[in-house]
Amino acid sequence: MSGIYIHIPFCKQACHYCDFHYSTQLKKKKPLLNALQRELEMRKGELPEQLVETLYFGGGTPSLMEAEEIAELISRAKSIYTFPEDPEITLEVNPDDVSQDKARLWRQIGINRLSMGIQSFFEEDLKFMNRAHNATEAREALEWAGEYFDNISLDLIYGYPLLTEEKWMKNLETALSYEIPHISAYALTVEPRTALQSFIEKGKVPPLDEAQAEAHFRILVNTLENEGYVHYEISNFGKPDYFSQNNTAYWIGKPYLGIGPSAHSFYGRRRGWNISNNSKYIKSIEEGKAPVEYEELSDQDRYNEYIMTGLRTIWGVSPDEIEKRFGASYRQYFLNRVAAHLNSGDLILKGDAIVASPSGKFLIDGLASDLFRVG
Ligand code: SF4
Repeated sequence: MSGIYIHIPFCKQACHYCDFHYSTQLKKKKPLLNALQRELEMRKGELPEQLVETLYFGGGTPSLMEAEEIAELISRAKSIYTFPEDPEITLEVNPDDVSQDKARLWRQIGINRLSMGIQSFFEEDLKFMNRAHNATEAREALEWAGEYFDNISLDLIYGYPLLTEEKWMKNLETALSYEIPHISAYALTVEPRTALQSFIEKGKVPPLDEAQAEAHFRILVNTLENEGYVHYEISNFGKPDYFSQNNTAYWIGKPYLGIGPSAHSFYGRRRGWNISNNSKYIKSIEEGKAPVEYEELSDQDRYNEYIMTGLRTIWGVSPDEIEKRFGASYRQYFLNRVAAHLNSGDLILKGDAIVASPSGKFLIDGLASDLFRVG
């Protein structure tokens, strides 16, 4: 069982906070789409005899592509790899690209899940972020998408100076009013070399406030859990049967192949990452070379990764699984380190796994790093 991620590295404009790989120049679109098709073929040996359960178009902004261009990529992937009858096929879309026609076309070409970058329903917040869409488009996009899709996820951002607790509640209430079965919510972070970082350095935007983000996170968890969403990963909430299969595959360590500039791949003991430059990516493919570098992961790397991703999910971290994957010494090390956090109540035993308690959810990164094995 595995997944394929395809990165579409184009956007209409640069959001102020974003450090993903994308270009606002679309003139290389055609050669890049050709290169994606060739890379799918070139790297087929990396998922030998694997059933590909999920195909995910991320970016960048995949909805900037024509539906036929996405359809060609889907059919290419299906001609090379083995898919079940009804795999999850997700398209990330921005609200300004959604129309009734487009939503219908996406459904017709086999997309069965939309992940929509709403971020906020307030005009001034969208301007602060430099999003390409406005608040009206956010609402219209949800209505049109809802006519053709029941499996929709929306992204929201919290923890920025303009967002009062009242506005955050309002954003959540608006999202809930569309009966969306999956919501991803992320605290805004200041990434190096972004416009946001420069605005904060120049004093044009106040620095982000961790206490504000924590207050928003509490509101988020309480509100969505009360509405029947399962908080199955630290930033992800889904109604039962609507968890993202693609993201869950990452978190539970299933293999995945990443296609396109900057895409990452993972095969248990090996990780790969593609070059983050559109021109160099296309050139490498045209020369018949996969534009990817690999790294072999040590047991320690894999143990640390398991702790980090496991603690972020409702499935937690299992001592038996640690022993099975990494040996008895890792199990013992983990049990020694985890005892203090079980005593403090930040981590709790659930079945045979250790998971974050409601209070521990706010401390995940620190808890995980305390359980890491280093040196
Ligand atoms: S649309 Fe997404 S990928 Fe593009 S700049 Fe904005 S946040 Fe980044």
